[in-house]
Amino acid sequence: MGKNFGEYNRLNKVGNSVPMVCPKCKNEVTFHISKAYSNLKVIFLTMGEYDINYFATCPECASVYKLPNSLGEKIENGSCEEFELNLQMLASNKLI
Ligand SMILES: [Zn+2]
Repeated sequence: MGKNFGEYNRLNKVGNSVPMVCPKCKNEVTFHISKAYSNLKVIFLTMGEYDINYFATCPECASVYKLPNSLGEKIENGSCEEFELNLQMLASNKLI
């Protein structure tokens, strides 16, 4: 049985990029786009998501790049599953 009250940290995959060259390993890869967020849950009511961050992960070298939330939301809500990422933006937002 799960907790009835608490803070939950979650990570969901929300989409893929189009095939593109990773700034780190130089392989052509399809980045996995993920959303990390926290949930506050009281009894069975989920109070909402907060502290939301979007990431692109390279499947070859496991580099993690932070995406602007505006872009992450577009990927999450879009009808198209593949998105072209801006390589310069990726290179300047490398986390790991
Ligand atoms: Zn890579």
